[in-house]
Amino acid sequence: MKKAVVLLSGGLDSATVLAIAKAQGYECHALSFDYGQRHGAELLAARRVAEALGAKTHKTIRIGLDAIGGSALTDPGIAVPDRPQEGIPVTYVPARNTVFLALALGWAEVLNAADIFIGVNAVDYSGYPDCRPEYIAAFQTLARLATKAAVEGAELRIHTPLIHLSKAEIIRKGAELGVDYALTVSCYAADGEGRGCGVCDACRLRAAGFEAAGIADPTRYAASPPVRGDSTG
Ligand code: ZN
Repeated sequence: MKKAVVLLSGGLDSATVLAIAKAQGYECHALSFDYGQRHGAELLAARRVAEALGAKTHKTIRIGLDAIGGSALTDPGIAVPDRPQEGIPVTYVPARNTVFLALALGWAEVLNAADIFIGVNAVDYSGYPDCRPEYIAAFQTLARLATKAAVEGAELRIHTPLIHLSKAEIIRKGAELGVDYALTVSCYAADGEGRGCGVCDACRLRAAGFEAAGIADPTRYAASPPVRGDSTG
């Protein structure tokens, strides 16, 4: 059975990616990061999702990106915005996907896996530069230069099955594949129970996605849910 490393954050997108990789016949090895993010609820969600979707193994690696900070997700001194922002928002985590993919690449080599799946999206997203197709293509080029596996003939591939899908299309795809979105946490400022704030970028994109998909939204909110209809800003 072909093996894949699947980056799993505990959010909606990466849960869908895990279901897609599974449906494509991969033996999935899920990888999460305790990177100094604001809350641990998403790591608990990742564990539940990995189990529910039948990942062969699930590993959580600690990397303290809070040591360098520079993001609302890793520096408690920078607030998570409660409305859309101009340009790249402060929830961008410096070099996060590069760090994540580098570790996924290392684990893939150890597992003898040639395939890495990541749930980046360039449609309903926050404008992060490390979610763009050209970034992923460049990383794949790096993977094919940087590793013993590649030199010995492995054709490493970075799969981004969601990159051109809208949030609604992602949700419909996952629902078809049996993803239980009640297990996932998207909010940048979720509470200890994994309940969303309803106003951050991630909450707004998620709520608008369920609305547009015409699928009941199982998201739990700490306060009242966001106003529907104007949620993408
Ligand atoms: Zn939120």
